[in-house]
Amino acid sequence: MPELPEVETIRKQLSKKLPFEISRVETSEVVGSILKTEDFSPQGLVIKKIKRKGKLLEFVLNDDKRILSHLGMSGSWRISNSPTGEKHAHVVLSGPKGYLSYIDPRRFGNMYFVSKLKAQLHLDRLGVDIGSPQFTPEYVYEVLKKFPNKQLKPFLLDQAYFAGSGNYIACEICARAGIRPSRRCGKVTKKECLKIVEGTKSVLTGSLKRNGMTFSGGYVDAFGEKGDGVENLVVFAQKECGLCGGIVKKTVLAQRGTYYCPSCQK
Ligand SMILES: [Zn+2]
Repeated sequence: MPELPEVETIRKQLSKKLPFEISRVETSEVVGSILKTEDFSPQGLVIKKIKRKGKLLEFVLNDDKRILSHLGMSGSWRISNSPTGEKHAHVVLSGPKGYLSYIDPRRFGNMYFVSKLKAQLHLDRLGVDIGSPQFTPEYVYEVLKKFPNKQLKPFLLDQAYFAGSGNYIACEICARAGIRPSRRCGKVTKKECLKIVEGTKSVLTGSLKRNGMTFSGGYVDAFGEKGDGVENLVVFAQKECGLCGGIVKKTVLAQRGTYYCPSCQK
């Protein structure tokens, strides 16, 4: 699933095509499972800016309109000069600058065409973006103290508090902070919250530099290229810990595959 670095990579790549005038909109026959608003009529409008909060992309159009796009499990946007010919292109916006296609084989992604005000309601449901300056040790400490009995790693997936995180990021944060994924939030110290924030920065920066993370058969960027972020992982899907060389253990927490290093993480 695309997490913050993958969504941000796509955002940056699409942004180079802006302003993008939409002359024509084409949708697939099965687009209904992705489009969550009945009206989808951005033709004639111009994409002026693309913003991101967590894993949600916000296309800012003129006329006070927004397209919100969540990539779900397997969604991506593709830039091209001619139609992609992709079987799973469900929304295609075209204009003088070419084609922007939303491709999503599994169709868990979703898209909204709404007013600025409605878009804000969606954005407000998300918590602090883990890549933003608001993601501070004080914030993390305060949130963890509110839910002392939750286990840290599954809780790090909660978008209402940690917008942009996902399974690989949460595992990597715990590893870099030296905390077992199953540790109760109430047992995380202030000092460790600083490590959580520093660990998050190192995961995100490392992954962004390499245009995101591609696991088997997964994510590609807006040019159809895979990301090399796997090189930056220390425990996720690894056999040996990238920090100490010890054996990485795999377990399941809240139904999600979870990796950790028993010697680095307490
Ligand atoms: Zn280790």
